[in-house]
Amino acid sequence: MSHSYERELSVALQAVRDAAAICRSVQSHISPVALEKQDRSPVTIADFASQAAVCRAIGDAFPDDPIIAEEDSESLRTPENSGFLTNILNAASETLGETTADQLCEWIDRGGANEYSARFWTLDPIDGTKGFLRKEQYAVSLALIVDGQIQVGLLACPNLPLQGAADDGAGSLFSAVRGQGAEVRSLASAEEPAQPVRVSATADPGDARLCESVESGHSSHGHSAQIASRLGITGDPIRLDSQAKYAVVARGEADIYLRLPTRKGYRERIWDHAGGVIVVEEAGGRVSDVDGRPLDFTRGFALEENRGVVVTNANLHDRVLSVVQEVLGTEEQTA
Ligand code: AMP
Ligand code: MG
Repeated sequence: MSHSYERELSVALQAVRDAAAICRSVQSHISPVALEKQDRSPVTIADFASQAAVCRAIGDAFPDDPIIAEEDSESLRTPENSGFLTNILNAASETLGETTADQLCEWIDRGGANEYSARFWTLDPIDGTKGFLRKEQYAVSLALIVDGQIQVGLLACPNLPLQGAADDGAGSLFSAVRGQGAEVRSLASAEEPAQPVRVSATADPGDARLCESVESGHSSHGHSAQIASRLGITGDPIRLDSQAKYAVVARGEADIYLRLPTRKGYRERIWDHAGGVIVVEEAGGRVSDVDGRPLDFTRGFALEENRGVVVTNANLHDRVLSVVQEVLGTEEQTA
């Protein structure tokens, strides 16, 4: 039976809008306090508050749906972090109301699933935490996966202005439902009208605009420069943090997003991609890994069967993939 996912979309739109409001408020009112996670990436009050808000909303509306989210509350439950926990409670209180530390940790830990199931959500409460700390691009990314297919996806990008006259300073909220196209609206309020989102029509690789991570540790800048040069691209790459890269390809501002492995064995996390993938696909674009395989969302929290990611406006996909393979293949032979 086909499913319109109307209720899922409306709950998710409100959830990420609330989460984005929390993030914006943390970013504007305080200087984010970074706490070193075990993997040494910075994590802020807003990551946890955002996860609590989204997991509460999804958990209340769809109590049987597991959520695979990036954060967990374990590090917050230690006495030395009680001040940090209080700051998270304060950041979330406008959205979540007065609540206890235990309740907050429970909401965060609703996102603690890590295995594949027939229907589940995946959430990155702040994708691009480094961009958030630099006051540049970041995104709240949420997606619903059913039988291994992304069916609903959202990207809230508070620092990505709407294009042209529509810009109201509130940032952009992209959403897509499988088979129904991709849309964008202002993050300002639930009443905002949506506009359709379409990829570019660029067909000549030499005219393509390429985007990639700011962080060279997340995607090889050296390889992308070689690929760009072989494609005949002369302009500089557009560097931005987070799944805002999927958003700019989806709306035709860039034509290619490359995420090229920086080390053997790294497996991409599903929450870094699921929301963005469906927005690009429903905007008419294509997504695969660097070997041309579709991203496989049936393997738990990581894309175990894939390496890297190649995103294009569809027209350019086959050409880009062949050059990606030339460059990465050559490198492997010489390594
Ligand atoms: P971006 O903002 O596109 O640079 O991506 C940020 C995401 O990169 C974070 O959410 C991390 O999950 C992810 N990440 C961390 N280490 C790596 C790595 N070695 N390769 C690719 N992605 C990574
Ligand atoms: Mg992330």
